[in-house]
Amino acid sequence: MAQNGLDTDIQFLPGVGPKRASLLKKELAVETVGQLLRLYPFRYIDRSSFMRICDLRPDMAYIQIRAVVLRAEVIDRKRLSVWVGDGTGEIETVFFKGMKWMAEKLKPGSEFIFFGKPTAFNGRINIVHPEVDTPSTEATGNSTGAGSTMTGVYTSTEKLKNGGVTGKVMNKLMDAALSKGLPYVEESLPEYIMKQHGLVPLHFALRNIHFPKDMVSLEKAKYRLKFEELFYLQLSLLKQKYVRSRAEQGIMMPRVGEAFNRCYEALPFPLTGAQKRVITEIRNDMKSGHQMNRLLQGDVGSGKTMVAVLTALIAIGNGFQACIMAPTEVLAQQHYKNIQKFLEPTGVKSALLTGSSKASERREVHAGLEDGSVGIIVGTHALIEDNVIFKNLGLVIIDEQHRFGVEQRSKLWRKASCGAPPHVLVMTATPIPRTLAMTLYGDLDVSVIDELPPGRKPVQTIHATDGKRPALYKFMRDQIALGRQIFIVYPLINETEKLDYQSLEAGAEEIMQKFPFPDYKTAVVHGKQLNDVKKFNMDAFAAGRADILVATSVIEVGVDVPNASVMVIESAERFGLSQLHQLRGRVGRGSEKSYCVLMTGHKLSKESRHRIELMCATENGFELAEEDMKMRGPGDLEGTQQSGLPISLNIASLAKDGLILNAAREAAESVLDSDPTLSENRNSLLVKELKKDKYQIKDYSKIS
Ligand code: ADP
Ligand code: MG
Repeated sequence: MAQNGLDTDIQFLPGVGPKRASLLKKELAVETVGQLLRLYPFRYIDRSSFMRICDLRPDMAYIQIRAVVLRAEVIDRKRLSVWVGDGTGEIETVFFKGMKWMAEKLKPGSEFIFFGKPTAFNGRINIVHPEVDTPSTEATGNSTGAGSTMTGVYTSTEKLKNGGVTGKVMNKLMDAALSKGLPYVEESLPEYIMKQHGLVPLHFALRNIHFPKDMVSLEKAKYRLKFEELFYLQLSLLKQKYVRSRAEQGIMMPRVGEAFNRCYEALPFPLTGAQKRVITEIRNDMKSGHQMNRLLQGDVGSGKTMVAVLTALIAIGNGFQACIMAPTEVLAQQHYKNIQKFLEPTGVKSALLTGSSKASERREVHAGLEDGSVGIIVGTHALIEDNVIFKNLGLVIIDEQHRFGVEQRSKLWRKASCGAPPHVLVMTATPIPRTLAMTLYGDLDVSVIDELPPGRKPVQTIHATDGKRPALYKFMRDQIALGRQIFIVYPLINETEKLDYQSLEAGAEEIMQKFPFPDYKTAVVHGKQLNDVKKFNMDAFAAGRADILVATSVIEVGVDVPNASVMVIESAERFGLSQLHQLRGRVGRGSEKSYCVLMTGHKLSKESRHRIELMCATENGFELAEEDMKMRGPGDLEGTQQSGLPISLNIASLAKDGLILNAAREAAESVLDSDPTLSENRNSLLVKELKKDKYQIKDYSKIS
């Protein structure tokens, strides 16, 4: 038998037994009393307030009505339709399952409480499968919750419901779990932190999260539990950062150097304030004697390349080599090409190394890296896979970080040749909401370029459906007549998806029919082409030899064609917000007015419609990223799929609890500021908690 009430198997709780216990284990992964206590309600029913039927609207969230059954009838043997009324109106409730049982229960003339979501159906409002309660059982309620008007609602599944684990049963279980387990629950935050931040004790929080005494107690309970979760997460991340900054010696780069100055003086434009600020931050890192681990976030077109070049030149100026890695061949080539003009006045030698570099070129580059004559190397994964040896690598710049796996990055890491690891700058154009950045990169320093170079015109974003295609083609012809170029992008969500290629091919064919050669020139680019072919077509478009580029989302990252002024995105509803935003960033780079046309089907889900509307409403990448996170949750955001969130949150939400996260982050910082090793007595509880599984954060192999 378990020593500790928290380890007790839930099958020993009254009303459970082996069968329900195995169901709970399967459906909710709950086995012990302790685990059960940490399964929090996701919503509460306010027993004290009822809506009037006449006030119900189809867009309402879950509501509760108190109504008398008027009539019930089974329709087509498929569904039970029960009309109920409360004096202000009548509404139909519908049941597809358990019809017989419901029909017996819902006798005309008797009163019930119905809880559910009003939906529009055939021009009327109805409620499908409401929870049904009899007013009398509700009055007796549960023992612990006496005086409470709120009842917790827990995640449930069809199987749980069929197995008799209803909402009411869950409430009873929680009541039993609290009596059995709570005495064994130990406080998990030090007294002084609770005091400083006005947090309620854990016992109070657990009791009130399940059975809120009132609204205020519930808020206090939630705040305490969320704070605790975010606090330990931040403490864990920041502790890694503290440990590393003490442990890792960095390469000292005290000078700016001549190459930097020559490049800077020859710039055709003044740097933006944001670029200057970021370069100062980077420069301070590089001369600090500690290794730089910095994330540089900047919207598409914000001028990150410039920052990368100047950063690389600082390394050069201190006698080190720099490497710039891009996620794709096309991008590496583009980077290489772009930086030439900036390097020209400096005399620094650069080279390009990708999967398609010829053997002879490759040998030459290898030799140059080994003897140090090549100062800046630009490339793709080939930089890692290859047997590349540096004379003295001092800086690694990684563009579009999320495309690189942790493993690949750490390989590069090991190429350090002079004892200390190279400085690392990770650049990403995917705006990440601040709360997510703090969590994903909590152990990195973050710089943000939040200002676009002057003179960029806003991109006008338009939503259109198939019926508007003739108008779209006319608009495209007009633009081409003005000398502009046009991107048309097809979704390639799944590399192996045949359909995606089919729609691209069909689309390209139609374009070539409507825009016939030789009056119009169309280039096609997709992931299945050989690198040479891809490059040829890309180049044709970049050099202005093609008017239209039909592509899959391979062009998503980075290509710079200032003369392109129209971006048409086909099946735009299939793209996520941040991807749409990335694609739109391909236009509006020149001096002409630019357009983004989002083509969608007629029928859009509510969420897709919302996405499209947001795109039409704002160009601010951070705003879009925040919204994206609210809609899809942080786990599905671009940039997080690969690395995943470092821990899974049980109650706090990165999308909604930004303020609590701030407070928790500050609290963790202040703890570590005064006791970096957590060796003070009052912090011993923190050390113990941090050892728990849930706070073990994946090591991002030091880079991110
Ligand atoms: P990102 O990599 O952040 O998407 P780029 O570095 O490609 O952006 O810059 C986009 C364009 O803006 C480039 O053509 C670049 O030469 C130009 N640019 C960069 N910085 C400035 C600046 N301070 N003023 C004017 N133009 C700039
Ligand atoms: Mg770029």
